Amino acid sequence: MQCQTVLPGIECTFWGKQGCIFTNGSCQTIVENCEGCDRIVTGTIGQVCNAYPAPVKKWSNGICNFASHVKIEIKVEDTKMNPLKASKKASGAKKKK
Ligand code: SF4
Repeated sequence: MQCQTVLPGIECTFWGKQGCIFTNGSCQTIVENCEGCDRIVTGTIGQVCNAYPAPVKKWSNGICNFASHVKIEIKVEDTKMNPLKASKKASGAKKKK
């Protein structure tokens, strides 16, 4: 149904026949870590997230997985191994005595 308080007219899964069913009956405003994110929209209570109603929770365990402005860099070590050795290692081959 469409929100009628924070983001009037916007479809929201938390809006039901009895109003907003999210914690405390409302979305929460963004947190400092959100600044720069493309998902920030302006609602009647200030800047809110259009992807998740409680931004503080999204950052409580690390980087928000919906954030558009933060990229996670994964370093892959460039380890080169002889393909024959790698094959033997993978098959669990034992050395001959
Ligand atoms: S997607 Fe994450 S970082 Fe972006 S506004 Fe929402 S909670 Fe904040």
